[in-house]
Amino acid sequence: MYDVVIVGARCAGAALALLLARRGMTVAVLDRDEFPSDTLSGHYLHQCAVARLAGWGLRDGLAALGAPALQGMLLDLDGVVLEGEPLAVDGERFAFCPRRHLFDSWLLEQARAAGAHVHTGVRVDGLLCDAERVRGVVGRSRTGERLEWNARLVVGADGMQSTVARLAGARMLEERPSYACNYYSYWDGLELGRAELYVRGDGVRRFAVAAPTNDGATIINVAWPQEEHERLRGDIEGAYLATLRALPGLWEKLDGATREPRLQGLVKNPNFIRQSAGPGWALIGDAGCHKDPVTAQGMADALRDAEMLADAISLTSGANLDTAASTYEAARNRTIAPMFDYTCTLAQLTSPPPEMRALAQAMQSQPRALARFFGVMAGSVTVPEFFDPANLGAIMQGAPECVP
Ligand SMILES: Cc1cc2nc3c(=O)[nH]c(=O)nc-3n(C[C@H](O)[C@H](O)[C@H](O)COP(=O)(O)OP(=O)(O)OC[C@H]3O[C@@H](n4cnc5c(N)ncnc54)[C@H](O)[C@@H]3O)c2cc1C
Repeated sequence: MYDVVIVGARCAGAALALLLARRGMTVAVLDRDEFPSDTLSGHYLHQCAVARLAGWGLRDGLAALGAPALQGMLLDLDGVVLEGEPLAVDGERFAFCPRRHLFDSWLLEQARAAGAHVHTGVRVDGLLCDAERVRGVVGRSRTGERLEWNARLVVGADGMQSTVARLAGARMLEERPSYACNYYSYWDGLELGRAELYVRGDGVRRFAVAAPTNDGATIINVAWPQEEHERLRGDIEGAYLATLRALPGLWEKLDGATREPRLQGLVKNPNFIRQSAGPGWALIGDAGCHKDPVTAQGMADALRDAEMLADAISLTSGANLDTAASTYEAARNRTIAPMFDYTCTLAQLTSPPPEMRALAQAMQSQPRALARFFGVMAGSVTVPEFFDPANLGAIMQGAPECVP
């Protein structure tokens, strides 16, 4: 009998396994994938994620993965260009964008080193339950062998299509459509040194983000509206390149750069918040809440959820961890709504309203206000703090330093 069995061993699952094992709990973490392996995803870790990893003593290990430390960012918002550095998170000024095959397997190795039992190549397809609660999971090895793990708590860290969520009957608390399609590829020969984001609204409705990653490469992800996909799906490559061409600031920088031929992407990027705790089970990371990647929050959120659940479990004594799961879910739900809404708004790829355009223009000459604006994505300033009318009013009057 384990204290906790975790299904899914990437950002959310490996992080939770690490934190619980370090606290002396018995933990098994299972994944159908083998590691190291890539997954369909970008990999930009905002300052809040880097700060969280630093808090776990993993800052040097993260840097040693070899992706460059990224300072500052550029946002081209329908032609209004903002360049600056986000407000630091707990002193952390840098973001990193390590390839997933490096990051995920490194984090999982940290969990293993802390004492978690890691089982890869295992597909979970059932829950062990009694009349009252979930008691464990059933899986299949690659050779078809049936395997069981009993646990005081089963955690689904198994991504947006979560099997644990489906089998446990987790309800949707909030559901929005998939607004955008996302495709990415890797480029050589670009020297950005920071993340660059390009937004073109009405009439064009395109988004692109470029971020330097390992081995001198730059990942460039582009997005177009869901409703245009039917028309574009016959020539994804052409649509990807046409999107970049529609963003002149970025397209000019690609002159002389070469692209890896492979294009990867997701047509459907649904936005939802799921019930994430029930008798004997909990959900973390994308399994519990999934958002369009336009704000690149998913990996940071996965690490946050892992820490929140680990903290709640640490505070709970006794055999039944349901209270811990509920405490975690309540704490998570208190924090996620504003960024969920903000992400859904941006994912619609429409032009910013005139007030936002005016605000962006005002911030061009106000580095402190801009640092706080970029801090919304980086995790140092919350959405409600930044979009507080008093703050916006102060920026429009050129006096943002007055607002805490
Ligand atoms: C195009 C795109 C770009 C993105 N860019 C970024 C970015 O730049 N920054 C960022 O922070 N986020 C980004 N994201 C989001 C990010 O990918 C996710 O939020 C993040 O991977 C969530 O981590 P997770 O551990 O919750 O789930 P996942 O990374 O999805 O891991 C789930 C794991 O569970 C395993 N699993 C699933 N089902 C089972 C089963 N039945 N049995 C056993 N194992 C199972 C899977 O094999 C997988 O390894 C992007 C997403 C997309 C689609």
